[in-house]
Amino acid sequence: MSDTDTRDPTSLRTPIVAVLGHVDHGKTSLLDKIRGSAVIEGEAGAITQHIGATAVPLDIISTIAGDLVDPDDFDLPGLLFIDTPGHHSFTTLRSRGGALADIAILVVDVNDGFQPQTLEALDILKRSETPFIVAANKIDTVPGWNPNEDSPINDTYESQSERVRQRLDESLYEIIGNLSDEGFSADLYWRVQNFQRNVGVVPVSAMTGEGVPDLLTVMMGLSQRYMKEEMEIDVAGPGVGTVLEVKEEKGFGTTIDTVLYDGTIRSDDQLVVGGQNEPIVTEVRALLQPRPLAEIRTESRFEKVDEVSAASGIKVAAPELADAMAGAPVRVVRNRDLEEVVAEVQAELADIAVDTAEEG
Ligand code: GDP
Repeated sequence: MSDTDTRDPTSLRTPIVAVLGHVDHGKTSLLDKIRGSAVIEGEAGAITQHIGATAVPLDIISTIAGDLVDPDDFDLPGLLFIDTPGHHSFTTLRSRGGALADIAILVVDVNDGFQPQTLEALDILKRSETPFIVAANKIDTVPGWNPNEDSPINDTYESQSERVRQRLDESLYEIIGNLSDEGFSADLYWRVQNFQRNVGVVPVSAMTGEGVPDLLTVMMGLSQRYMKEEMEIDVAGPGVGTVLEVKEEKGFGTTIDTVLYDGTIRSDDQLVVGGQNEPIVTEVRALLQPRPLAEIRTESRFEKVDEVSAASGIKVAAPELADAMAGAPVRVVRNRDLEEVVAEVQAELADIAVDTAEEG
């Protein structure tokens, strides 16, 4: 962001990113690679590990992406990756009737191509109208591949033999063809002009990190260009989120790992949480974040914080959470009318029940 920019940057939140794809195509490895690169680049402490999610701030993305990203072109603060990949978490995690994730990465093994769960994922993305890009993963397994760790795709492509390039091209065009069969007009990402109309395919290796700079650049660019308005939030407003997981924690009782996608949650807030039978009205006992690894000795793995703002992953300890459920809404009451907030949570729970029945 430039010095002359007077907009309040805190009113734009981080887009929430989900990773989908067929089993073994490399979802977990890709997330690990992105996290790993971010940790290395952010050694000074700029990377924040959230509960259930990893925030990769813009300056880290720009360091990883090198020449591909000029941070002055962006005012979104970075990307928040949900740590649990897969369809189940994608369909369970919703926000106000839509998908919780703002944007998705569909991972396809470049050699294995489209598989049943790839098609399933495409169907889910189509129905939820979630913008996505395709990561054509495992390019390092193309026979004869000459790996260039963490390199942008163009550089590593140039260093491959003619034969290897041809093999990769063939596999990539097969994926593009498969996408087209499913009704998506797709192309290699550097040929895509309009990411709202065309799906960009990014060749990557979760093993060597090749193409990861491109992947982050494309995700950031797509968000900035097409989702900025949706990212505008009232940061100071009462927090709104979705339960990622309900967990027992020693010393804290039942806690809910929550992805906050709007507003702020404070350690003295009253909350309404979706429960198995009805909305639960409770009060925050503690807001917990992972303690940096270096500080863990015999103490708790968590550290208490006073407040967090969207988008972020946070563990909430509060009484009465035994009936809370994954995928259910979380709303801060603060200065709002309690009845009204309860009614909203109730309505959201009813929507979830209808969708689940339709899917079942
Ligand atoms: P997931 O089931 O989609 O989460 O897939 P995983 O991330 O668990 O990966 C499945 C297997 O593929 C593991 O053995 C990984 O080490 C391997 N793998 C994932 N990405 C790559 C890649 O880019 N290159 C190579 N050579 N292996 C990969």
